[in-house]
Amino acid sequence: MNPISTRYPINELFETIQGEGFYTGTPAIFLRLQGCPVGCPWCDTQHTWDKAAEDQVELETVLNKSSATSQWAELSATEVLAAFKQQGFHAKHVVITGGEPAMYDLRELAQVLEAAGYALQIETSGTYELKVSAGTWVTVSPKLDMPGGFLVRPDCMKRANEIKHPVAMQKHIDALDNLLEKCPPAAGTIISLQPISQRPRATELAIKTCIERNWRLSVQLHKYLHIE
Ligand code: SF4
Repeated sequence: MNPISTRYPINELFETIQGEGFYTGTPAIFLRLQGCPVGCPWCDTQHTWDKAAEDQVELETVLNKSSATSQWAELSATEVLAAFKQQGFHAKHVVITGGEPAMYDLRELAQVLEAAGYALQIETSGTYELKVSAGTWVTVSPKLDMPGGFLVRPDCMKRANEIKHPVAMQKHIDALDNLLEKCPPAAGTIISLQPISQRPRATELAIKTCIERNWRLSVQLHKYLHIE
């Protein structure tokens, strides 16, 4: 495999604490990729949806963003690793998010970063075939019946280490139940519910359901801490 043949459109690159899911509390480097056609109406990263040629910039511009923008820089896997070192990041856990990062073949990125001692996690909607390393932790946050018309893939559900589902109402839990029946995950896959936008009723429903089902609660710790 040629280690420099794939280039990745980077919308953001920063170090923080993972605030969601199984790795909550873990220091992590976030690599946000540009591009997503799924179209969730409540998406809080809509600036990542379009990968417009006129928004391509140098890496320095991406690193110096003071607010969310649709600007992106294109890097190879080795350039991503060089950027980690240039930034002096300490974390060894890398979260590849988006946008929809599964639009891209992430195997070269994994090859380069894992060889340098990093562990990878991908956060995906489950609507694209996964091209990740065997060691990558896969978090599927299934996006059902979204305007983009994409279906959640059974192979993504099977590969998931963790299924993290946003909930506000009972119908969201019913939809997850339906999905789990149609596309069963592997034994031992972690299932967590994440209340949408920290709404009290959503949180109450998620807590109640997690206790009843022995699932996990994911609370978006970073939003409570007011960090990125
Ligand atoms: S899949 Fe993720 S990035 Fe894409 S629209 Fe939905 S929430 Fe936003």
